[in-house]
Amino acid sequence: MSDQPSDANSKLRLTFLGTNCLCLHDGETRLLIDPFFTRPNLISLLRRIAPNPSIIQTCLERANISRLDAVLLSHTHYDHALDAVLTARMSGALLAGSASAARLAAGGGLPVETCLRAEDGRALSFGAFRVNFIQHAHLTLGGLGWLADGNIEKPLLPPVPAWQYRQGEVFAIHCQHPDGSLLVMGSAGEIDPRKLKNISAKTVCLGIGGLAFKSAAYRREYFRTVVGGCRAEQVYLTHWDTFWKRLDKKPSYLPLHRLVEWQYAKLAHREGIRLVCLQPWQEVVL
Ligand SMILES: [Zn+2]
Repeated sequence: MSDQPSDANSKLRLTFLGTNCLCLHDGETRLLIDPFFTRPNLISLLRRIAPNPSIIQTCLERANISRLDAVLLSHTHYDHALDAVLTARMSGALLAGSASAARLAAGGGLPVETCLRAEDGRALSFGAFRVNFIQHAHLTLGGLGWLADGNIEKPLLPPVPAWQYRQGEVFAIHCQHPDGSLLVMGSAGEIDPRKLKNISAKTVCLGIGGLAFKSAAYRREYFRTVVGGCRAEQVYLTHWDTFWKRLDKKPSYLPLHRLVEWQYAKLAHREGIRLVCLQPWQEVVL
């Protein structure tokens, strides 16, 4: 699938791989955010879950990813981080994330020197990319937060129950590159607008998972804070697809999330912002 390039001369490419899994590359350096290919089904979620190396391999091949420079984690819930350690090992990538991500890495046997600690406001460089982590809240859904909030306190060795993938610190990931800039919101939780004051991003990948269960006013405020805050010109919606369904099946919306897309399409149109709901495997030029 192709999308209108926003800049024909740009070497910067983004591929959406379902949920909030995004591959960003410029022909030399390749970054993968929130790798989640195994996508355990609902029945296996009742048991213990583990990354599946053959599904990961198949997905990396289909996405033409033979080598990765870094895996970046917005947070460590299983739908963002289940495959992070194995993907990093299989592709020779560094892993950058919270203290909880480091405990995932320790459980998975990733050498300590390949793990980078993400901290609020700390920038890391990978090739021509400068990556900044901006801490914010995770989306809260009624009384269900206790299910997987808090940190991963000990090295985690899968298979483990899904709830043991506790969220840890939650980050928006800002990627700056000479050809463009991108802000990725893996969770639609609140972010302090002051943190976006000096952030500029032409493109925002806006995770909308769970937003169907928040009020229309909350959704509007989230959109305006994030998209308006970094003065974005285009928005790509992510984390809208049913993440307990395999990536080789036709994607479907999370329950009621089509409504979120409609609301945001209207809002974006009114504010002169281009908005696209990215499809799995879709590559766009940034
Ligand atoms: Zn989460």
